[in-house]
Amino acid sequence: MNYDLHCHSTASDGLFAPGELVDAARRGGVNVLALTDHDELSGLAEARQACDAHGLRFINGVEISVTWEDETIHIVGLGIDPENPQLLAGLQQVRGSRLGRAEAIAARFDSIGISGTLQGALSLAANPAVISRAHFARHLVSAGHTRDADSAFKLYLGSGKPAYVPHHWSHLEHAVRWITGSGGVAVVAHPGRYRLSDQALRRFFGEFRDAGGRALEVVTGSHQPSQYATFARFARDFGFHGSRGSDFHGVGESRIGLGQLPPLPDSVRPVWDLFD
Ligand code: AMP
Ligand code: MN
Ligand code: MN
Ligand code: MN
Repeated sequence: MNYDLHCHSTASDGLFAPGELVDAARRGGVNVLALTDHDELSGLAEARQACDAHGLRFINGVEISVTWEDETIHIVGLGIDPENPQLLAGLQQVRGSRLGRAEAIAARFDSIGISGTLQGALSLAANPAVISRAHFARHLVSAGHTRDADSAFKLYLGSGKPAYVPHHWSHLEHAVRWITGSGGVAVVAHPGRYRLSDQALRRFFGEFRDAGGRALEVVTGSHQPSQYATFARFARDFGFHGSRGSDFHGVGESRIGLGQLPPLPDSVRPVWDLFD
């Protein structure tokens, strides 16, 4: 079975509407799909309907933005209940700070002589409540300021760059509780992408486990292939299950297509054992 348990639609910063995304998943050979939009559940119903129509199994998902010791960390929830009031209220609160942050990002661009970025980014965001740096990056590319999204992050939007605005997202314990409290499994998204020392990463995994977290993404489009073995080992050391997901945002923006990742290493207990 081909599981892809991390991807984005136009309900957050993906380029495909949920139905189009499911079509791309089907063409990529995916059997079981989770949609995991940033801080948002509004794409789930359409994605589930499309999966039902095409014979794919669908898992309700989300990717929650968390701030842990000044670092932004993403926690994926799988098998959540999209009607759970605590989860809905928590996500609404996280989304609520995005527009103000976007205005602050645009003010930084203004101060370095690049104007009109808020309007530009918003015009590319189908769901303005989840205005993201990805929308700013796309605007910078289309307005000719940078060659591609990656250079937009390297030059302007990445941590410590001129248009970067430090932000406080949700607390780790809260995000995990919203997920587990709605019947879901909490998974650390792309653990190899954070700027944490080995020691800090171990402390983080310990706190995540204490909060009720159960799994790590091991095979993800956001990891270099050489990192799969590293995080398979971390999963074993901490008693975590492992997940597999492309983190697909759209053609031309993602290293790997839906369903195209290699399988989980044999040493890893799959996260789907927890909800199959
Ligand atoms: P935000 O949640 O607004 O901070 O935006 C983060 C999003 O920006 C991520 O979910 C990715 O979609 C995108 N992103 C982050 N880093 C890069 C990068 N180097 N190149 C392209 N997109 C990126
Ligand atoms: Mn994204
Ligand atoms: Mn992420
Ligand atoms: Mn993601």
